[in-house]
Amino acid sequence: MRLPLPVIILTLLLAACTTSPTGQQQLLLFSEQDMAKLGDESFEEIKAKEKLLPEGEVTAYVQCITRPLTDRVGGDWEVRVFQSEDVNAFALPGRHIGVYTGLLTVAQDPDALAAVIGHEIAHVLARHGNARVSTQMATQAGLEVLSAVSGMQSRPGGDDLLAALGLGAQVGILLPFSRQQESEADLLGLKLMADAGFDPEGALRLWRAMGAQQAGSQRPPELLSTHPASQSRLTTLAAALPEAQARQAAARAAGRRPSCALL
Ligand SMILES: [Zn+2]
Repeated sequence: MRLPLPVIILTLLLAACTTSPTGQQQLLLFSEQDMAKLGDESFEEIKAKEKLLPEGEVTAYVQCITRPLTDRVGGDWEVRVFQSEDVNAFALPGRHIGVYTGLLTVAQDPDALAAVIGHEIAHVLARHGNARVSTQMATQAGLEVLSAVSGMQSRPGGDDLLAALGLGAQVGILLPFSRQQESEADLLGLKLMADAGFDPEGALRLWRAMGAQQAGSQRPPELLSTHPASQSRLTTLAAALPEAQARQAAARAAGRRPSCALL
């Protein structure tokens, strides 16, 4: 039996539609391995472009905060600190995390920094990069999606891919995550930081500080171009705070008490 092409495409798209950790439907056309490879390649490009901060007190501080988080999600993530005034951080499929030193001027305590990194890791865990590349392909390419899915011959590349993975302003293209993805990353990230033993109120401090920085500066934080510091974000986080505090108490009772300081 020969099925009409639109039926084949629709079937493929439906087969690729999955449910995210908080129960949202999302279209995922790429395998975990494909996304990891794309993440690996993107991270190499960024490392070649950005100035790496030499090993020292600041890199040790960032590692100290990142390790309890990545320990909760399989460990063994590559963490790099870039010397830059940009207020930004990101995580990529393939287990890569980039933190810009400018972020430390806004995320001024360990719990606030854990909130940013937890949020970025949550985007990866929820496969938001995959969903964004997939949706972009499905929307733009139409029939080409079919060949990409069936043969995996053509891969998205270049700036579109970097933007779709969430790097936003870093590569000169602004393409924010959707509100739904932001909200999901907030809630997952809050759980993750609390389970690692960090104070979840750090997330509220962080987004308030981001908002203040935006209001008082000619140059708003880069992170805000992809992660708006909206009132609805604060409301969602505040509502989830009691449960997160219970999680933190359980984590600390179990001996997970991260102690990181920048002297
Ligand atoms: Zn986000």
